[in-house]
Amino acid sequence: MAHSSLASVYVPADPSNFTYGRTKPIRCITIHHMAGVMTAAACGGIFQRVGRNGSSHYGIGVNGEIGVYVEEENTAWTNSNWDSNCESITIETSNSSTGGDWPVSDASYNSLIRLVADIAKRRGLGKLIPGDNLTWHSLIASTYCPGDYLRARISDIADKANAINYPGPTPTPTSDFMVGDEVRPINLVDYNGTPLVSYHDSYIISSLSGDRAVLTTSGVVWAALNTNNLEMVNPAPRPSSVEWKDVPTTIAYINGETSLINLDDESVVKKLSGEFIYVQESKDGNYVRTSYSREHNQNYGVTKSALLTKEEYDNLNKPVIEVPVIEWKDVEPTTKHIIKTTNLINLETNEVVKELNGNFTYVQVSADGKYARTEYSKNKGLPYGVLLEALDDNLEPSEPSSGDTTEDPKPTPFPGKNTEPQIPGSSNSESSESILKQILEAITAFFTWIQSIFKKG
Ligand SMILES: [Zn+2]
Repeated sequence: MAHSSLASVYVPADPSNFTYGRTKPIRCITIHHMAGVMTAAACGGIFQRVGRNGSSHYGIGVNGEIGVYVEEENTAWTNSNWDSNCESITIETSNSSTGGDWPVSDASYNSLIRLVADIAKRRGLGKLIPGDNLTWHSLIASTYCPGDYLRARISDIADKANAINYPGPTPTPTSDFMVGDEVRPINLVDYNGTPLVSYHDSYIISSLSGDRAVLTTSGVVWAALNTNNLEMVNPAPRPSSVEWKDVPTTIAYINGETSLINLDDESVVKKLSGEFIYVQESKDGNYVRTSYSREHNQNYGVTKSALLTKEEYDNLNKPVIEVPVIEWKDVEPTTKHIIKTTNLINLETNEVVKELNGNFTYVQVSADGKYARTEYSKNKGLPYGVLLEALDDNLEPSEPSSGDTTEDPKPTPFPGKNTEPQIPGSSNSESSESILKQILEAITAFFTWIQSIFKKG
């Protein structure tokens, strides 16, 4: 049983809607939209319907909550293509409104990025490449899914997920020295190789041409040296490799921990966790920085997609909500009953699975003693049952068997424990037997009559 720890809603799909196991290694992630505005729980409810013939591993609700329906090691039926299903982990994403370009809320979008990053990391998919290991439904089958809004953002999703898994921008090469740097001579020769005497520990570079630096002290030129003979004491502020723009002060949260990165050299300044208040973001929208970093002119930032809203943070740190499980107890021995007409009910959703009549053989009753379920439902772990009080006391069936499955008919040991003394001719089967007996008697009488005619002749 493997699924993302980011999931906060657990609604297992009905086994009729996916395949246990996989025939191919997991190679990619496929993005879908729900073509509707739904919570993760509501989407999961659809995949709990028997015979829906469809499912997905994950669903992201309109509020950004992540639901899990099919475990990753099993094959969900999502991509309208068997081969593709076998190698993919699939995600349904709620729309924020229906129609148009089928938009998605920011909360859902950010959760999608985090989930994609998490799957890619745990499954070793490497850097995500749109069309390769990050696919979308219409790439595989003829469908509008996942809509123009998400389709236009596949590269953005890949970039932001990659930024989570591989933090740090590509370093921009900077020259070692620049005008204004405070430096120290490590070899006392001038640019032409002439020995020098130094009166100061450090100098300021006043001009620079290739590897020739002119050094000054208190604004007075001392000498020109080769930059190879200098070491840095105190660098002048570098022109920013990152362009920052002000954004409204935002309180965000870090799930677990993330890195504060020096965007100039990609180094990790420190690890951060919990609350993070930022006032600026980088022009490309990938990083945010605090007012402290702004005041101190430090290009330190955290990956924006690593941040959560308060609600998202609280959701992730809530315990996983399990669908309530009905408690069943075995009844011994199993009993066969005839039911007139009743409903087979999904006791977790109160939905009618189908109408039943005829035989009903059950092996378990619910702990509250209200419902009974068959061996099939027991073995499949289905929360299906019929009302015990809808069952007739007759034990001997006269109609073809009908339970909650077509696969089930099995020889049933009976009589059951609650057999009442049988009054001959009182039940349906008794009366049908007696009709048969009457017919046989009539036939025998007929032959006796024929024989008597021949004897007479
Ligand atoms: Zn789809």
